[in-house]
Amino acid sequence: MKRNRSLQTSTGIQGPASKRAWLFYSAFLCISILVNAQIDGGKNIHLLRPVQVCDVKINDAFWSPKFDIWSRVTVKDALAQFEKNGAFRNFDRVAGVLEGSHEGPPWHDSLIYEMIRGASDLLVSFPDSDLEKQIDGYIDRIYAAAAKDSNGYILTYTQLKEPSHRWGLNGGYERWQHDVYNAGALVEAAVHYYQATGKTRLLEVAVRFANHMCDLMGPSPKKNIVPSHSLPEEAFVELYLLFQNNPQLRERLDLPVDEKRYLEIAEFWLENRGNNCGKPTTEQWDKDEPGCQKWIRDRNYGDNRPSWGAYAQDHESVFKQETLEGHAVRAVLMCTGLCAAARVNGQPRYTEAADRLWNNMVGKRMHITGGVGAFAHEEKFGGDYVLPNDAYLETCAAVGAGFFHRNMNLLFGHAMYVDELERTLYNNVLNGVSIEGNRYNYQNPLSAKSNHRWQWHGCPCCPPMFLKIVSALPGYIYAFDDEGLYVNLFIGSNTELTIKGVPVKVTQKTKYPWQGGVSLVLEPKQPGEFSVNIRVPGWSQGLENPLGLYRSDLKQSSVVFKVNGQAIATPPLIRGYAVIKKIWNKGDAIEFELPIQPRRIYAHPEVVADQGRVALQSGPIVYCFEQIDNPQISSCFLGSNLPIHLKHRPELLGGVNVITGKIFSLNHDETVKDVEFTAIPYYCQDNRADSGRIEVWMPEEQELVKPL
Ligand SMILES: [Zn+2]
Repeated sequence: MKRNRSLQTSTGIQGPASKRAWLFYSAFLCISILVNAQIDGGKNIHLLRPVQVCDVKINDAFWSPKFDIWSRVTVKDALAQFEKNGAFRNFDRVAGVLEGSHEGPPWHDSLIYEMIRGASDLLVSFPDSDLEKQIDGYIDRIYAAAAKDSNGYILTYTQLKEPSHRWGLNGGYERWQHDVYNAGALVEAAVHYYQATGKTRLLEVAVRFANHMCDLMGPSPKKNIVPSHSLPEEAFVELYLLFQNNPQLRERLDLPVDEKRYLEIAEFWLENRGNNCGKPTTEQWDKDEPGCQKWIRDRNYGDNRPSWGAYAQDHESVFKQETLEGHAVRAVLMCTGLCAAARVNGQPRYTEAADRLWNNMVGKRMHITGGVGAFAHEEKFGGDYVLPNDAYLETCAAVGAGFFHRNMNLLFGHAMYVDELERTLYNNVLNGVSIEGNRYNYQNPLSAKSNHRWQWHGCPCCPPMFLKIVSALPGYIYAFDDEGLYVNLFIGSNTELTIKGVPVKVTQKTKYPWQGGVSLVLEPKQPGEFSVNIRVPGWSQGLENPLGLYRSDLKQSSVVFKVNGQAIATPPLIRGYAVIKKIWNKGDAIEFELPIQPRRIYAHPEVVADQGRVALQSGPIVYCFEQIDNPQISSCFLGSNLPIHLKHRPELLGGVNVITGKIFSLNHDETVKDVEFTAIPYYCQDNRADSGRIEVWMPEEQELVKPL
């Protein structure tokens, strides 16, 4: 039969279908508001304590093979690439053992430090004496370079190319030099390497440099130097916490350590966003970048500093910023640091800003894969609901968003932040590296003629960021507070925590995300009363997005929990967690099943790009249509009433669930026929030769069209 033209859906629903969408959505929003009211929004601080990477061992059918690849292949491939592209040689030049100029971008040092952080956390889970020796060798080279300066200043681009412009002073330009950013990454790497190995050699470099920065930067009469690329904020809070939690560590360093200064400088950086001479404005930059560069180099800003602009979240005070603006990686890392500082200082202006910015991002500026930063131009966020499907969505931005979600969970103790961490992790982040572990994505669009991974990149920022978050994953599965255990992620694992003074072994077993069943066995050393708080994902409750940006057709259903094989009364849902409180004995088991049947996802009516379109999801996994499985991909639409099925394919892409069903294919004569479709997990895109076009959001017919 002829296709019903009034339901044309290739560019959006028209006419009656559009009205239906609005009515449907309005009803949904009412439900969302009710559910949100019931789950106690994230306004009140409820601090959770993180679990260290070294305290959790992952043993999981989904994740363990990936970790094996990342530790055997990815980390070594990336380090070899950095050896090749000259990033390490820059340190040798500063150390005076090699001739020549700086190689690579000004932020090259930070990528080495980020590799050291990621490799360190991997070493905890996968001890590898060769890799550890390799990292020690790199640290020796960094140490030798830092030893050349009496203050331990070590920023190879500035030292080799612009030696009179340290920190962007004297006519330099910090927004290009990335000095504070590079220094922050050094601190982060040093903390993680110490935690992984107990070795203090890199920490010595970092602390000497951090002390120098604390002497130099801060409120007048110190200098108003603020990172133009966030990351140092959280790094310095981590350095503060390292010494707070390990006071004896000071004695191992032959350096003065007053850790409060590290927290104060992080706060200074956050509090002095927007405190600049107001120039050049973003508009001036867009019109006359060479002129602005000259203006900055001529130091027309006196004793103040130039504005980094909205591009680098410097257009106004962070406490006044209402929306996520500018370069996405910078924006989400600024928010990550804001949460980290808020966890320590508890200041309402910090927590309110973090809450406001998270709500803007998750409620209005985040793609269904958890990706953020819609536009290639300045790698920046678009406006509210501007979520094009050919969006930029850099891997680094998804990783940074993951850190932001995680820190929000530790700050507010609400499960919805982990829902979004999970979304980001299983979709946009995992898509950053190929299944074989040696090809990479910078951009992660939802619609593309092809989106091929690269062997390496002129700006190889994404592989280190990817390694940073996945290597930290063991520490994200659990958390705890004074009352009990929190189970945040469903990943087969073992841990041992002390809860209310009682050591408790926890074993989690699951085949998630391919199956919905999860079991937990608790082994307290002696019987003890505490709560076990299990995240009940919003999506499993029919709440796809906590702020209504997405909705699904999954009906709200209560997850049934069993304790020692017996179903228990529905536990109370507190801050998104099912709370089971009792006296736990050795061997007590909790089981539950999450509804992973495939579901259809729809976007908020203001997301123009997705009107008349539907995406498919199962559990946390977003699906995509690849041309290799669906040759008619360009002329297909999904029938809203046709059944869809989940099927495990152990031979495909390392073993995945696919979604199958019938899809309508539009013929040249405008007749339609139905054909079988196969949708694969989005993170698996471009892992087969000639995989072709990808689409996440497919056109949907609101009414069943009978095929020929
Ligand atoms: Zn990147």
